[in-house]
Amino acid sequence: MNCCCPEPNEANNPTITTGRCPQCHNSGKLVDLITLKSLLTPIALAELNPEQIYRFCSETCCSVVYFSMRGQTFTTTDLTVPVFQKDLDEKIPVCYCFGWTRQQIKTTVEQQGPQSVIASITHHIQAGRCGCEVNNPQGSCCLANVKSWALTTPIVNP
Ligand SMILES: [Zn+2]
Repeated sequence: MNCCCPEPNEANNPTITTGRCPQCHNSGKLVDLITLKSLLTPIALAELNPEQIYRFCSETCCSVVYFSMRGQTFTTTDLTVPVFQKDLDEKIPVCYCFGWTRQQIKTTVEQQGPQSVIASITHHIQAGRCGCEVNNPQGSCCLANVKSWALTTPIVNP
């Protein structure tokens, strides 16, 4: 991170209670600047403060995607991609790197079972092909989301 002059509180206490979303008050997960730089719209990116630490809010009902310790927020309309946690539509990606939407996972699970999807994505991850930090708004690996979606998808035609 580009931190020549970090805020003392932010640098020393990254997990203190100030890591709560200013809108929904749930705690957010630290996210690297590269994720915001990759996924913010040009207009939103112009408001980014690179010396600050940002967190990701994963609450579905909250429109805030990123927030800083100082209360700056970026919402779903500030990103160039839809956010899996914020949009329950089936056309939304679960795996951003390899383009698996909820619908595609559901279809494949119905035809081949959940392990086929999980194995395919795991194979790419192990081969070092994933770029979650620049593709996925949460800034980290999608596999947990893929697994929970694939394993809870009801198999209509077993
Ligand atoms: Zn929130």
